[in-house]
Amino acid sequence: MTLRLTAFVDGPLDTNAYLVGDDVTLEAIVVDAPQGVTPDIDEAIRAGGFTVSRIVLTHAHWDHIADANQLRAATGARVLAHPLAAERLANPDPALELPFEIPAVTLDGTLDEGDTVPVGEHTFTVMHLPGHDPAHIALSSPADLLLFSGDIVFVGGHGRTDLPGADPEIMNQTLARVLTLAEDTTVYPGHGQPTKLGAEVTWMQALAQS
Ligand SMILES: [Zn+2]
Repeated sequence: MTLRLTAFVDGPLDTNAYLVGDDVTLEAIVVDAPQGVTPDIDEAIRAGGFTVSRIVLTHAHWDHIADANQLRAATGARVLAHPLAAERLANPDPALELPFEIPAVTLDGTLDEGDTVPVGEHTFTVMHLPGHDPAHIALSSPADLLLFSGDIVFVGGHGRTDLPGADPEIMNQTLARVLTLAEDTTVYPGHGQPTKLGAEVTWMQALAQS
């Protein structure tokens, strides 16, 4: 009845991936696919006896998608992202020199505002949260008080708004939406440690009201 959650940190930008599994049905999803994460996730899947149904990409930035094809090959899961991510995934542009290539990713399906992502007996709802990337989504479970926030909410701040496709004003509107969730929601971000939404309310409110 509980969700088993394992975090992985990988790639040059220390990007988080999460394996989220129902401990009864052993169905799981993976959130994000940083470079090099596949062997560790594969091991955790085998150790836990999980079957991965979906790989959800929170957005199309290279550090969150680099291992999507390997993860799909290792798990047989479907790779899903927001419809606006498809073009960038087909032509990933890291905008900086990397010692490895970011392969193109073809989606098996899309996730938009209000869509649901089941994990065994648990259900996540998709929130479309632009501001950092127009294709950014987060996964929220009000029943489990969980939010996979990608690069929207970190400890003490939000994702960059100076990148192509980013917009500080839209980010502030997005933060206002996230603030409608319960304050004891645990936030699992795309970078850094988890936090409680209540611990982030002060800076978020200041921006949301600006
Ligand atoms: Zn990003």
